[in-house]
Amino acid sequence: MEKGRMLYEGKAKKVYETDNPEYRIVSYKDDATAFNGEKKGTIVGKGAINNQMSNLLFQMLAKNGIPTHFVEELSERETVVKAVEIVPLEVVVRNVTAGSMAKRLGLEEGRELSHPIVEFYYKRDDLGDPLVTDAQIEVLELAPAKIRDEIREMALQVNELLARFMADRGILLVDFKLEFGVTESGELLLADEISPDTCRFWDIETKEKLDKDRFRRDLGNVEGAYQEMMKRVSEVQN
Ligand code: UDP
Repeated sequence: MEKGRMLYEGKAKKVYETDNPEYRIVSYKDDATAFNGEKKGTIVGKGAINNQMSNLLFQMLAKNGIPTHFVEELSERETVVKAVEIVPLEVVVRNVTAGSMAKRLGLEEGRELSHPIVEFYYKRDDLGDPLVTDAQIEVLELAPAKIRDEIREMALQVNELLARFMADRGILLVDFKLEFGVTESGELLLADEISPDTCRFWDIETKEKLDKDRFRRDLGNVEGAYQEMMKRVSEVQN
């Protein structure tokens, strides 16, 4: 597959055209940002880890009936994915209080929720990705109600599969963010990535943070946390 023109450069990835309009190539960078781009840095080896971890998790999800954009891993940092138009929503699933939910609602971090919850944020960096209600999603036409409901359902299924997969490896899935896309032919697919950049992973026993919060909060050993997560995810279960 030939890498063509660069279509888009984001904070953590670049996206290229290919010779086939149905496919694109994603290239993962070591660049890290937090707080809507205010904090910048590099996490050495992150691009390779996020690429490979995301691909592994997408394949696990696909085996369990979740349609994803994953096609083929090209190299350490590069993957062929199906071309989609991204739905402009950041879909957050939470199992345990943390981050913005804890802060906004005055809760301590680490409290288990009685059931998982799904939240939608409007993907607009210039507005700081605001929380949006179902009604706002409709009137702003961010997604048709049917697609939004399908996304919510898929996000909860991903949560069940991912939480079980992580628990088997001694990891508590606290919360995570998903993005979805629609292909030219109208198929809804899980897109973007699933990695320590986009999830909160805590060691089940020690509650040690093994994700991007180590970078956001200057907790140290950021690279070590990403490597530890890659090791856990790669473990073969009997
Ligand atoms: N998240 C993300 N990208 C964002 C915002 C959040 O991947 O732009 C992830 C984040 O890593 C966490 C989950 O979504 O796993 C919930 O994040 P939260 O709303 O608590 O926001 P934050 O604490 O990152 O401000």
